Amino acid sequence: MPSRQLLESLDTRERSLRDKIAERRDALDDAARPADPAGDLADKAFERTRAEVEHDLLELSLRELEAIAAARKRVANGTYGECIECGEPIAPARLEVNPTARRCAECQARHEKVSSTP
Ligand SMILES: [Zn+2]
Repeated sequence: MPSRQLLESLDTRERSLRDKIAERRDALDDAARPADPAGDLADKAFERTRAEVEHDLLELSLRELEAIAAARKRVANGTYGECIECGEPIAPARLEVNPTARRCAECQARHEKVSSTP
């Protein structure tokens, strides 16, 4: 059973993510506004790049929010803190740093090695 502290850190993380997402949506709206017609090409390129960056950051935040929702589901069905690969408990220190971790450090390392192989 995850500690109260862990559940609270999920809450805190979720709140700060929701704030960030709201900010990014505003920034995206800004960036999506038609560029100053008098602006030169460099301005337009800058606007486009900014919109792309904001969009990527927004995606990242949304993905993390999904990870938090998934972690809550695991809390609800009692599998939170268990590695999805080997079924062993994930080290509490690891969960403290990353409350949405689904794998123990060893399986995560192996997983990253496998998925980074072209
Ligand atoms: Zn594992």
